[in-house]
Amino acid sequence: MRQSQFLIPTIKENPADADVQSHRLMLRAGLIRQIASGLYTWLPLGLRVLRKLEKILREELTRSGAQEVLMPVVQPSELWKESGRWEKMGPEMMRMSDRHGREFCLSPTHEEVITDLFRHEIHSYKQLPCNFFQIQTKFRDEIRPRFGVMRSREFIMKDGYSFDIDQTSFDKSYQEMYDCYSRIFTRMQLDFRAVEADTGNIGGSNSHEFQVLASSGEDTIVYASEGDYAANLEKAIAGPADPRPDPTETLEKVATPGQTTIAAVAAFLDVPRQRCLKTLIVHGENSLIALVLRGDHELNELKAAKLPGVTVPLSFADEAAIEAAVNCKPGSIGPVGLALPLYVDESALAVADWVAGANEEGFHYRGGNWGRDVPEDGVSAADFRNVVEGDKAPDGQGELKFLRGIEVGHIFQLGNIYSAPMMATVLDKNGRSIAPIMGCYGIGVTRLVAAIIEQNHDEIGIIWPEPVAPFLVHIVPLNYGKSDRVRETADGLYQTCIDENMEVLMDDRDERPGVKFADADLIGIPHRITVGDRGLKKGKVECRSRTDNETIEVSVADVLDRIRG
Ligand code: ATP
Ligand code: MG
Repeated sequence: MRQSQFLIPTIKENPADADVQSHRLMLRAGLIRQIASGLYTWLPLGLRVLRKLEKILREELTRSGAQEVLMPVVQPSELWKESGRWEKMGPEMMRMSDRHGREFCLSPTHEEVITDLFRHEIHSYKQLPCNFFQIQTKFRDEIRPRFGVMRSREFIMKDGYSFDIDQTSFDKSYQEMYDCYSRIFTRMQLDFRAVEADTGNIGGSNSHEFQVLASSGEDTIVYASEGDYAANLEKAIAGPADPRPDPTETLEKVATPGQTTIAAVAAFLDVPRQRCLKTLIVHGENSLIALVLRGDHELNELKAAKLPGVTVPLSFADEAAIEAAVNCKPGSIGPVGLALPLYVDESALAVADWVAGANEEGFHYRGGNWGRDVPEDGVSAADFRNVVEGDKAPDGQGELKFLRGIEVGHIFQLGNIYSAPMMATVLDKNGRSIAPIMGCYGIGVTRLVAAIIEQNHDEIGIIWPEPVAPFLVHIVPLNYGKSDRVRETADGLYQTCIDENMEVLMDDRDERPGVKFADADLIGIPHRITVGDRGLKKGKVECRSRTDNETIEVSVADVLDRIRG
């Protein structure tokens, strides 16, 4: 392409409303423009990158045996009612009605539609396993669209769905997709980790997220310093706590006037936070429920919502409800003599001689001990905290450490939670009707562009890895309009690239060298060839690699060979 005819509206200054590097650079390099919150137009340069990613996806998915389909964005409510998700999906799903008053949604995901296709078209175990994918627009009315295309409302997803006759066959299909995803992100030269994850809105039993490591990532990834264990923070578990020491103190009620936070009580009584207990009160199906954690630990809301009897979604009792139930304000609650069902986090249960609220305003107990002061048969032990760095790994291999990540892909085991209610069955060898085991597999294609930039940029711009770069070669002729020698050489190189199918952009604009170089650095094409009169006198051009910003002089005849190599 000739740059004079190709829209790359670069911006010099940092846009004010962009909080992460990838968002700033995508705006500055003219890859995207916003039209409303979470809605973007892809400009020619950005779209070329998107198409590159899609090509890699298609190649690897096809190699693993998946078939491409294309399903509608607008979907009838009836299908979602069959799966039970019409009611379950919150305001993230955009709903609307047509001129006849029939209800539809803008699809946030496609399990229902693919299951509907399956039940109409596939009837025999002989047609299994099968795996379908599409690359298509999704809409989710995110509560906080941010970071540009990283969390937008309309975005492009590669979503895939597999169907297997039994668990053994499914396990192979799942592993195939796991491997396929690993190949895809490796080809994109990303530094990524596959981690165990929660299944969220999609449902099902087991899942893995593919996380691109980046300090700007919204997710916390937990990994073991030695073994292979890796999970996201929502899902991560720690190894067992050390055995509880024997009590050394007696239970003593102490005045703690005005001290209602863990930090305040710990400082006031000069006890480390990990020996103070914090008691949270949530709504349960039959009564309020108390959750006791170590003072230095955070509640994991996802784990807590899975405790038997706790209402879903998890909701905290307000001050009035707590006072009505236990006649005490939230800041002074503790497990001693508390007349509520009691869940105690396993690590809190391993603490001896603890401090906790005395269920009386202005007082705490110190020297508290499980068993002696709170009968253990009234306590349910569970894991409902977030792990912290330094915890033991669950398999005992080293300790847990944290990294930040951007979730670019997610693979789920669905079992028959869609196939059974939607009656998508096939006949097995014996003529019995079986609801197949499903898997679903997502990749955020537009988010990937941002993730790649997060990992590949410097202070002057983007540094595209070759496999995803919008162009391979950037020819930058200086004085193109006036110097015949420059123009002829640049045009010659440009034509050779085109003849050889090397993707090339040539800056034939009538701009000063400084402007051209700054734009070239910003848009980050891997190889830049600068063609100028000074070099040409010696028969040379400059060849610069955007990866290391090294410039060398090469003869005109050799320059493309160098890049090919
Ligand atoms: P998140 O936790 O980031 O909201 P999710 O669990 O809702 O993601 P999935 O339903 O698994 O996401 O969707 C598959 C992929 O689609 C994700 O791994 C992510 O890469 C991408 N994706 C999801 N939501 C968005 C969004 N709002 N904008 C851009 N990409 C998204
Ligand atoms: Mg989401």
